[in-house]
Amino acid sequence: MSAILEVKGLEVAYGHIEAVKGIDFSLNEGEITSLVGANGAGKSTTLLALSGLIKKRAGSVIFDGEDLTRLPAHKIVERGVVQVAEGRAILTTMTIRENLELGAYTRRDRANVASDLEMVFTLFPRLLERVDGLAGNLSGGEQQMLAIGRALMAKPRLLLLDEPSMGLAPIIVQGIFRTLREINSKGLTIFLVEQNVRQALKIAQRGYVLENGEIALSGNGRDLLDNPRVLEAYLGA
Ligand code: ATP
Repeated sequence: MSAILEVKGLEVAYGHIEAVKGIDFSLNEGEITSLVGANGAGKSTTLLALSGLIKKRAGSVIFDGEDLTRLPAHKIVERGVVQVAEGRAILTTMTIRENLELGAYTRRDRANVASDLEMVFTLFPRLLERVDGLAGNLSGGEQQMLAIGRALMAKPRLLLLDEPSMGLAPIIVQGIFRTLREINSKGLTIFLVEQNVRQALKIAQRGYVLENGEIALSGNGRDLLDNPRVLEAYLGA
């Protein structure tokens, strides 16, 4: 397995609050990697730093051999590193179709947009059923599907997700995670940030546990699920 993304010594601070304290991690191409941890551990901050949406104090980000460390956010998206927004950030007064088309707007290969729209509807038939309805009328789970669909329309090579399970019922979360696996099985590399430690590690080939801005543990997703420290701290054992 080769690393498609390599992060070294990443540090991010908000004023004098050091949120991420020099972490190293890598993502293997074609795998799901989960970054889990408690509220405030620094997970969202790590993701924002990868997307170029927040300033890094130190460290480097290499994606597919290219140094992205100092690239602005829009250039990072152009390289294929696409984040599904937390809280979904869909445009509620636009239709589902319009939201999905917006996802594709930075693309140059217009010819493939129609077939990718088909692909999103195959993954999420519910979105097709409501394609001309307003996004604001969708349920929370459907909005999350739309947010993922919109990110897929940007033709990612690496998909970043910040807490897709947030605020959703367990049965809906299971559906979302099943779909992430399906997307991954078609070859897309996924980096998943989650507080839902059990589900996130279950679908991950590799996992990292973040505590107070530092990587406390790493390993195969299933092995981490059996780790006594993970069981005790995150799974209520
Ligand atoms: P959550 O699941 O709540 O999003 P997280 O693991 O993603 O948690 P971060 O949101 O990355 O954690 O926060 C890491 C630390 O940085 C916390 O101590 C948080 O209070 C602090 N922090 C986050 N955003 C800001 C901000 N805009 N200004 C100041 N401090 C912040």
